[in-house]
Amino acid sequence: MAKWVYLFTEGDATMRNLLGGKGANLAEMTNIGLPVPQGFTITTEACTQYYEDGREINDEIQGQINEYIEKMEEITGKKFGDKENPLLVSVRSGARASMPGMMDTILNLGLNETVVETIAAKSGNPRWAWDCYRRFIQMYSDVVMEVGKKYFEELIDEMKAKKGVSQDVDLTAEDLKELASQFKAEYKEKIGEDFPDDPKKQLMGAIKAVFRSWDNPRANVYRRDNDIPYSWGTAVNVQSMAFGNMGDDCGTGVAFTRDPATGEKKLMGEFLTNAQGEDVVAGVRTPMPIAQMEEKFPEAFEQFKQVCKTLEDHYRDMQDMEFTVENKKLYMLQTRNGKRTAQAALKIACDLVDEGMRTEEEAVAMIDPRNLDTLLHPQFDAAALKAATPMGKALGASPGAACGKIVFTAEDAKAWAERGEKVVLVRLETSPEDIEGMKSAQGILTVRGGMTSHAAVVARGMGTCCVSGCGDIVMDEENKKFTLAGKEFHEGDAISLDGSTGNIYDGIIPTVDATIAGEFGRIMAWADKYRTMGVRTNADTPSDAKKARELGAEGIGLCRTEHMFFEGNRIDAFREMICSDTVEEREAALDKILPYQQGDFEQLFEAMEGNPVTIRFLDPPLHEFVPQTEEDIKKLADAQGKSVETIKAIIESLKEFNPMMGHRGCRLTVTYPEIAVMQTKAVIRAALAVQAKHADWTIVPEIMIPLVGEEKELKYVKKIVVKTADEEIKAAGSDMKYEVGTMIEIPRAALLADEIAKEAEFFCFGTNDLTQMTFGFSRDDAGKFLDAYYDAKIFENDPFAKLDQNGVGKLMDMAVKLGKGQRPELHCGICGEHGGDPSSVEFCHRIGLDYVSCSPFRVPIARLAAAQAAIAEKRK
Ligand code: PEP
Ligand code: MG
Repeated sequence: MAKWVYLFTEGDATMRNLLGGKGANLAEMTNIGLPVPQGFTITTEACTQYYEDGREINDEIQGQINEYIEKMEEITGKKFGDKENPLLVSVRSGARASMPGMMDTILNLGLNETVVETIAAKSGNPRWAWDCYRRFIQMYSDVVMEVGKKYFEELIDEMKAKKGVSQDVDLTAEDLKELASQFKAEYKEKIGEDFPDDPKKQLMGAIKAVFRSWDNPRANVYRRDNDIPYSWGTAVNVQSMAFGNMGDDCGTGVAFTRDPATGEKKLMGEFLTNAQGEDVVAGVRTPMPIAQMEEKFPEAFEQFKQVCKTLEDHYRDMQDMEFTVENKKLYMLQTRNGKRTAQAALKIACDLVDEGMRTEEEAVAMIDPRNLDTLLHPQFDAAALKAATPMGKALGASPGAACGKIVFTAEDAKAWAERGEKVVLVRLETSPEDIEGMKSAQGILTVRGGMTSHAAVVARGMGTCCVSGCGDIVMDEENKKFTLAGKEFHEGDAISLDGSTGNIYDGIIPTVDATIAGEFGRIMAWADKYRTMGVRTNADTPSDAKKARELGAEGIGLCRTEHMFFEGNRIDAFREMICSDTVEEREAALDKILPYQQGDFEQLFEAMEGNPVTIRFLDPPLHEFVPQTEEDIKKLADAQGKSVETIKAIIESLKEFNPMMGHRGCRLTVTYPEIAVMQTKAVIRAALAVQAKHADWTIVPEIMIPLVGEEKELKYVKKIVVKTADEEIKAAGSDMKYEVGTMIEIPRAALLADEIAKEAEFFCFGTNDLTQMTFGFSRDDAGKFLDAYYDAKIFENDPFAKLDQNGVGKLMDMAVKLGKGQRPELHCGICGEHGGDPSSVEFCHRIGLDYVSCSPFRVPIARLAAAQAAIAEKRK
């Protein structure tokens, strides 16, 4: 019989996959002797089994849970439903990777009228007892039975109005007792049966609810964004309650051993007296800084500081802990490696190396490459920022610069962003339902909540700028407006946020690009030391190339030459080329294009300082380039001395039913060889010119032929390229070398890679097209139906963003083997969008690619991901 349940005393930190992060760490803390309220963990495998069994907890698992309740009763000396010493528990989710706030939690489980009376009498604190009960009914109804919180909140508001008080804490034991019975009546009305009194029944319901919450929409979105597979499932932790809300000698807090925003080594956190954990995390009450805990509970605080040190030394990483003080006694409820900003991640990793706690390799492995994104994005222009006067200040909860138009709901944030607007989401407080809106926003501003509030934690995880807890804002969410510093702001007004200082500015403050320095530079240098795969960039313009070089690119893996015609009036010559009727006309247009190309290529070679530059020959989906407006058509007609009708007829003849599968790539050269002649001349002349200026560089241009599916096709184009290139080089009296290679982006090319490699000196995987053609759906249109695929659990991720390793990856693996088998010196890279996605980079390392190529801002991400792949391989 499988083992589905573990006591905390039976597990340890290595069992994260089975017990989830929270369960494994509760076990580990128990093992190292920390004060942990005892309990048990139901495994992630039980969750998977629950889904396999049609969302039911089968008898075997239920049997084990019941067995472990008894064990827990023995350990704690308390019993479910007991009149003397009742056991109350919390039921919490805990996946392998932490997913803060995404799944459900139930506290105070085990209460019924009899138990409430018992604990009221025992504690001498009936107010506390009834408060626990009404909280439990509310939470259970919401989480387990999905009744919705609002009905209960309305009842609380009515009670407060009736009693003439404004705060929950002003309600008496009698009021809360009355509320509890109103809540139960509400429950009965909504569900059609009595609120369950039997703690075991309550527990099974709660466990089911936590399993079910693994599949809620916000968890699904979070997993997709964080590369967490659906198949992992969540564990459930059932833990004896410690009460932070039993009176003024109780409290609850969340703390970090280092500052999660900056990485500074100091205890950081928040604490609320007479409260339960949810009150801190939900951001409903703004808590006090942890230092004030020392005044209230000196002994517990001293002990807590010791625990922090023990945990940091043990895990050798910054810890994020939840704890409760019950009657001045400290209980640890959770520890985990804390989520942190990218800046903090770099500082902490470097500090841990300097403190002798971690090796360089471990430091590199600790950083989530996706996080680096925030550091690479613009910051406020220092001068403009200095000149600006903040109109408000709150907590700098997640750094970065954000400017945009104000929106008040997550739905608006998403909708506005989809139509290209930059928005700042302003909310009273955020809740997990807001996740998609938070993702769409440049920044988040909340009225309530501290550094550990939902908004703060989630924003940091996403790398989105967040300023939280701005109590000066007078909010009117309903009418979509707020007042700050005497000014009324409406939807659509511009605002800027500084997520580091917490400053809020009226209007837009200009931003500047980020640079790699300090700890970022140190980590990158270590990454470069340990990675074995090269990192190039996709750059179409000299400025892209320069930026990428600054960010550490070791060459250009893809220059999309058709993108070089979007600027100024270059497009005119390009259109003349497309709409030519004769070879002469086309050659005349190409003569105009050649100097542009040559000039650009020279700048690319200059920017790359002798490193490899791959230039891909034209691959224009023709529909993107033909003139559309009457004015442009007329302009082209005049330039070519043709009638408007003739041009329209040509445009008509160029129309394709499926341009992405149409007359693009090398097919264009097969029909119009003169295009390849012109491009070869431009590449070779540029390379010769730059080589002449830099004797110490060895320039070997790489000419890349796109969309090849057949050896003879490549051979045909290559012949034109080689003839032209050799003539140019000979005429210049040079012995410059060059390479001709191909993209592997058509499944047939991968299948016949050994044949293709006879002609190709290198392969570069165009995984955008390879994904499109392997799946047989359009890269431009898939967005329309992918959501349905996520909902139906057919796909977990967008295959255009994260490489489909099983299918597309299999083709790549095969093509590398076939290609290198044919030509051992063949070098292979990737230049589809996946080249900057960390998990795809790891795959590329595994199949033996020589380099990945990605957009400039993703170069550092790829460098780090490549290093992590090499380090992980070494550790195996
Ligand atoms: C590709 O298909 O992956 C590729 C890099 O080429 P493009 O995106 O220009 O089609
Ligand atoms: Mg392509």
